[in-house]
Amino acid sequence: MNEFRNRFIRFMYGRYGMDQLSKFTSILCMTLLVLTLFMHNGVVYTLAILLLIYTYFRCFSRNISRRSKENQRYLNFYYKCQGKFNYIKARIKDSKTHRIFKCPNCSQKIRVPKGKGKISIKCPKCRIDFIKRT
Ligand SMILES: [Zn+2]
Repeated sequence: MNEFRNRFIRFMYGRYGMDQLSKFTSILCMTLLVLTLFMHNGVVYTLAILLLIYTYFRCFSRNISRRSKENQRYLNFYYKCQGKFNYIKARIKDSKTHRIFKCPNCSQKIRVPKGKGKISIKCPKCRIDFIKRT
């Protein structure tokens, strides 16, 4: 067991190993493989195998700078998606208590509390008043 471990460590020396992108591709690969158990789709199966090869290729690659660049690009994309998702989540939560109106004059977005009936809204940008039901 120890001998195998040492051999593996020697094999992995100077190789890239796992990162966030390879974790993502391996999870995606597993998901696709589970999917093929329920629907026998050749395309999904081929995609899963290609993902598996890609994951191992990156893991055993000796081109470390290139692999970490790929990972960085993936992380940038991931954080952007996460940011958008959080924004939408906050908007949905907020829409229960507030409404967004657009100023008819300058299109400035104005956030007002809900359930106040007909109110006069003053645009903070162009100082125009308009009536809206909240
Ligand atoms: Zn305005």
